[in-house]
Amino acid sequence: MTATRDADWLLDQATQRANLSAPQAQRVKAVLVAAMLAGAGHKEVDSPARKLVTAALPAAARLVRRYRRTQKQLDTSGLPDALAWLIGLLADLLAGLWDDLTGGGIDPQQWYDDVADALAEYHAAAWMAGSGQMKLPLDAVEKVANTVEAQLAFLDNFKVEVQSAAEFAPGWASRAESYANSIKTPYWKGKTDVLPLPAMPGDGTSDCLGNCRCLWDITPLDAEKGDYDCRWVLDSSAKHCANCLQRAADWAPLRIRDFQLVL
Ligand SMILES: [Zn+2]
Repeated sequence: MTATRDADWLLDQATQRANLSAPQAQRVKAVLVAAMLAGAGHKEVDSPARKLVTAALPAAARLVRRYRRTQKQLDTSGLPDALAWLIGLLADLLAGLWDDLTGGGIDPQQWYDDVADALAEYHAAAWMAGSGQMKLPLDAVEKVANTVEAQLAFLDNFKVEVQSAAEFAPGWASRAESYANSIKTPYWKGKTDVLPLPAMPGDGTSDCLGNCRCLWDITPLDAEKGDYDCRWVLDSSAKHCANCLQRAADWAPLRIRDFQLVL
């Protein structure tokens, strides 16, 4: 596909959603084509993570549909229901794969491949659940691939440690399970997709790392114009790191006007 054709497709999606006028649409298209041409020279376009995510999209959509069919109320953790549900399922899945590995049923490479597939599927599902869109636009596939890729780098280190150790270390089971927390980032990215927010809960930019239970509370003032007030909200039942306390004080609200951060 050419950049222009991709841009037409994206623009079509955007025009339907945002009611763009023809001149606005032309401006957006010019930006899109430039961004895609810049991206095309970038080696990550066909990254392994992107291939994994693309392959996992149907399974991810099935997961989110399954969530919508359940009437489960799991929201004891302060996280949004859908996110808590997905994290719980993924943690179970990762615990099972770890058992397979320590029981000798699979080798470290097979374990890595299975965890990578699971991460691709759940990162995509988290984005869908956050955004409410079951079809990921091309730019969202790229964003999800990026969050998966960051985890695969950690996972690869973990695999090498496992392969070179004489025996399994006690802390590794919970370390393997903790990858479930990484889907917080695509969830919040999906939820706040068009907004240039400086951080996402659980994205590793705060001292609480993946344990973060903060939320973005987004108030659209004029969605078409791109005016939003965004608050970083602490979960009242959790302990907070210094970074998140500071964010809750500073970003109360963080103002976005005309799709730009007001600093
Ligand atoms: Zn936090």
